[in-house]
Amino acid sequence: MNEFDIIREFFDWGNGDGVAVGIGDDAAVLNPSPGCQLLTSVDAIIEGVHFLPSMDPADLGFHLAAANLSDMAAMAATPRWALLSIARVEADPHWLRGFAAGLQESLEAHGVSLIGGDTSRATQCSLNLVVFGEAPTGAALLRSGANVGDGIYVTGCPGDSAAGLELAMRGERGGRLYDAFARPTSRVEFALKQRGVASAAIDISDGLFADLKKLLSASHKGAELHIDRLPLSEDILKYVSRDEAIAFSLAGGEDYELLFTSPTPPVEHPGTRVTLIGHVTDGRELRCFDSGTPVDYDHKGYLHF
Ligand code: ADP
Ligand code: MG
Repeated sequence: MNEFDIIREFFDWGNGDGVAVGIGDDAAVLNPSPGCQLLTSVDAIIEGVHFLPSMDPADLGFHLAAANLSDMAAMAATPRWALLSIARVEADPHWLRGFAAGLQESLEAHGVSLIGGDTSRATQCSLNLVVFGEAPTGAALLRSGANVGDGIYVTGCPGDSAAGLELAMRGERGGRLYDAFARPTSRVEFALKQRGVASAAIDISDGLFADLKKLLSASHKGAELHIDRLPLSEDILKYVSRDEAIAFSLAGGEDYELLFTSPTPPVEHPGTRVTLIGHVTDGRELRCFDSGTPVDYDHKGYLHF
């Protein structure tokens, strides 16, 4: 198959909303909604760095889309369009079909159209997705908006994804922990309901603790974090001790859950568990407590270099 066959067969799903010209020309032409700002972000996943060649291609496609959608959720933006850049060692139809199906499933579940991309040969598989979203002017939720006294909330059960990855490395697939890693839920609909309610947000990609530090640093604030309030899933507690589950929860990455601050309780959304885990303080320190007792904890999160 040449690259044009690949695009036509696997990636051209037809034009969606707001697409004047999609796949097939030198650039896509889009119609953003009036009164909205355009938001964009990119994520790359590289074989050997982010995933093993043995990973199910459909899971990989789903995961790549979910990671990008999560960035839009963290900004309280509506994801609209995506560009895919794909580099493979060979054009393997079985792999491409699976990957495209997983990607399409996740993007279409959130109304996102694939509007173009790039296809090339490489010595190692590399997958890049650019996502475009929109939010009414001034409505995007930033990392920098946290105020003293705001509650710190988290969706879902951070840590499950890292535990699922550990299981997968040992060859154990299937089950809720593995799904948390392979097919993370994108919190887009939940996040849109928090516009005008939440004060700051970040999605958890490098670990809850490290990402909370980033939010606090952007907001020039400190926090008290109550580790006894961390939402530990039944699944993770079946698999490891409480202490290990807390370590996964604070330092595991790729949860794609939302960590956000809000002066009032968040707006509920069916199926989204939300937990209050601390509050924002003056100063710049992040202090941890376990059942009221101060504890020392530090973790830098996942660093590439
Ligand atoms: P150009 O050479 O002008 O950059 P290409 O010939 O590489 O364009 O691509 C042709 C069309 O197919 C473009 O619209 C491009 O956006 C789209 N495209 C290329 N690769 C992909 C892909 N992997 N997924 C979706 N669309 C793609
Ligand atoms: Mg061109």
